[in-house]
Amino acid sequence: MKLSKYLAPTLRDVPAEAEITSHQLMLRAGLMRKLASGVYSYLPLGLRALKKVENIVRKGMDNHGAQELLMSALLPREYYEESGRWEIFGEDMFRLKDRGQRDFCLGPTHEEIFTDTVKNNIHSYKQLPVTLYQIQTKYRDERRPRFGVIRSREFIMKDAYSFDRDQAGLDASYKNMYDAYCEIFDAMKLDYLAVDADSGAMGGSGSQEFMVKSEIGEDTIAYCSCGYCANEEKAQCVAGEKDSAEMLPMNKIHTPNSRTIEELTESLNTDAKHFAKTLIYRADDKCVAVMLRGDREVNETKLKNHLGAIELELASAEDVMRITGAPVGFAGPIGLKEKVEIIADFEIAGMKNMVVGANEGDYHFENVNTERDFTPDFIGDFRNITEGDICPVCGKAEIKTCRGIEVGHIFKLGTKYSEAMGCTVLDENGKDQTLIMGCYGIGVSRCLAAIIEQHSDENGIIWPMSVAPFHVAVVPVNSNDTAQAELADKIYNELIANGVEAVLDDRNERVGVKFKDADLIGYPLRITVGKKAADGIVEYKERASGNMEELTVADAIAKAIAKVREV
Ligand code: ATP
Ligand code: MG
Repeated sequence: MKLSKYLAPTLRDVPAEAEITSHQLMLRAGLMRKLASGVYSYLPLGLRALKKVENIVRKGMDNHGAQELLMSALLPREYYEESGRWEIFGEDMFRLKDRGQRDFCLGPTHEEIFTDTVKNNIHSYKQLPVTLYQIQTKYRDERRPRFGVIRSREFIMKDAYSFDRDQAGLDASYKNMYDAYCEIFDAMKLDYLAVDADSGAMGGSGSQEFMVKSEIGEDTIAYCSCGYCANEEKAQCVAGEKDSAEMLPMNKIHTPNSRTIEELTESLNTDAKHFAKTLIYRADDKCVAVMLRGDREVNETKLKNHLGAIELELASAEDVMRITGAPVGFAGPIGLKEKVEIIADFEIAGMKNMVVGANEGDYHFENVNTERDFTPDFIGDFRNITEGDICPVCGKAEIKTCRGIEVGHIFKLGTKYSEAMGCTVLDENGKDQTLIMGCYGIGVSRCLAAIIEQHSDENGIIWPMSVAPFHVAVVPVNSNDTAQAELADKIYNELIANGVEAVLDDRNERVGVKFKDADLIGYPLRITVGKKAADGIVEYKERASGNMEELTVADAIAKAIAKVREV
């Protein structure tokens, strides 16, 4: 490709809307442009890199026996009614009507459609197992689109679904996809972890997320030197030891203007560990009180799973006033005005002489003890794990946390969709057998951004060869110098003839501008044709290491070809 005619509009300034490196660089390097919040157009360079990522995914899936097909993005309501998800998706789903007023959505994910396809087209156990996949555009009206294509409203996903007759079959299909994912993310040169993930209210152990380690990741990962790693949402907290202190007499204390744990620890001059906070939550159509140690955070995923709730949020000030008889900040387990279930974290049961809200404005109780003063309705694990916690696997207090970007998710679905939609095959005895499913997603466009997050420097992107939009930039220092221009052209053509994806920077620009753009766009290799062109000497540079050497034209071409073929 000759850059004088190529649509690669680079920007010198950092666009104000872009907070993170990959988003800034995707705009600055001319890979994409924003159309609306969470909606982007890929320009030629961006599309080339995206297609590379797609093809790595495709190859990994094909190598593991999955079959590619392509479903529509425009999907009729009926399928989502069958599974109950027309309701559940809520505002995340883009909905529309056709001219006959029939309801459609833009598919946020395709479990229903694949289940229906297998139901209608696979009839015998002899045709199993089967794993089907597509690489396709998904639509989700995300509450907070951000970080460019990391969380966008239109994005490309690879979604795959496996169909098996029994649990052992599902386990094998799942393991097969796990292996495919490792191959895929290795090929993209991502530094990632496969972490245990939440598998919803049904529980079970069959769910892992592939997390790219990154400070800007929206997920927190807990990990231990023993090898355990899990999403914070899922990471189990162990109950810990019980305090053996003597129980002291309970007192009501005046705590004016002390609603938050910080205000209380200051006014009472004690540690947050001696407080139990009580939070009122609304879970669908009921409210519950959740208690945990003052310095802990509620794990809403664990709470939601325990309650089997679809929607979970902190209760409104009115709900809190009605239930506790006090404004927000004074809730406690003793003397609630309305009976609600009290759910306590394990640690609460082990605490002695705690301070709790008195369900009365400006008052707390001190020296409160479970069993003597109140009994929770349920005690369990409802908090977020933190650094220094005890590992639930090896039992050592070595939990550490880091941030991650979820690029893929593998999940043992079981029979949720096949049962709801009647997806069965005939077994050996001619009887209907409900299929057991797995589902496996990769955020293809999110991967592109994640690769840039992990492969860049202050000058721009540093593409791994496997996903680079072009492998080599051939740069004549002075395009008006005939010898340089001719030699650059020759190198460019020879590279292309050998299957190398090359660009020729034949723009009438200063060499400084060409170099800056080459670094920003991040071509893995650059061959510069300058003053020594007449002697057949060029400069060969690797973007990643910054190594630069003078080589003969033949050596430079041979070296570039070899580098590209390494992949
Ligand atoms: P998240 O927790 O990030 O919202 P999710 O659990 O909703 O992800 P899945 O439904 O499992 O995601 O989708 C499969 C993959 O699609 C995810 O692992 C992620 O890489 C990608 N993905 C999901 N939502 C988006 C989005 N809004 N923009 C870009 N990629 C996305
Ligand atoms: Mg999501």
